[in-house]
Amino acid sequence: MAIEAPFPELDELLLVIGAAGHRLSEIEAIEGAAGNISVYIGWPVEPRRKFPIAETIDLPDPIPELAGKSFLVTGSGRRLREIIQDPAANLGFVIVDEGGRTGHLYTSPRRLFLRLTSEFNSHLAVHRDQVHATNTNFHAVIHAQPLHLTYLSHIPRYQNEQYLNRHILRWQPELIVQLPEGLGYLPFLLPGSSQLMAATVESLRTHRVVVWSKHGVMARSDQSVKRAADRIEYAETGAHYEYLNLVNHEQGEGLTAEDIRAVCQAFGIQQDIF
Ligand SMILES: [Zn+2]
Repeated sequence: MAIEAPFPELDELLLVIGAAGHRLSEIEAIEGAAGNISVYIGWPVEPRRKFPIAETIDLPDPIPELAGKSFLVTGSGRRLREIIQDPAANLGFVIVDEGGRTGHLYTSPRRLFLRLTSEFNSHLAVHRDQVHATNTNFHAVIHAQPLHLTYLSHIPRYQNEQYLNRHILRWQPELIVQLPEGLGYLPFLLPGSSQLMAATVESLRTHRVVVWSKHGVMARSDQSVKRAADRIEYAETGAHYEYLNLVNHEQGEGLTAEDIRAVCQAFGIQQDIF
């Protein structure tokens, strides 16, 4: 169980999703309507005061083991930076039906979208895999497109997990503490495809952030939405330093592997990147 009772209220969850969208916008990780957020909620929540309109939807894949459980999901085409202005209008609340093939989608009368995000299949697969593996009662997943990190994934030598991690985690002592597993790395795969979904699930078993080459990232947390957003921010900060260093003729040294191992020893961090 990732979150202990008393559990956060629906209002609190809506606010933190709004705050995460706002912060991701500040760091230029969600231009236009890019990016999406979803949250798995493993305790009973009554959505109808906020989301009184109900309809039945088909789920991307049957998830019978999650019958009765809930998800908050961003609407397709919505801007994450605007969620904070009216979270209920930008999000849908899904309760999985018995059998797991369909769900009840609850929405606000002010609903601003037709369908849930087209990346819901990837989100759902990651939530499902993590709930199965860890029995967590809470799980947040965010897709964003941080500029510098995504740019680095266009440069051939960064298209390697080990190289990418050694270069972006070397710029601040916090980075290895916050991202001890480093970032997962996937080659470019078609957005929304089953290949991207399967590879993402696999990579997020051993990482908390995965880079989708030439596209963006997906991050997860079983603690909070903000924690998932923070992980994107840390990764993007490391990538920003790396980018600055590239354009400054690689004059920066970065922390040495020895420095980073000393940080890990002092903070009790297990890692095998440096
Ligand atoms: Zn995207």
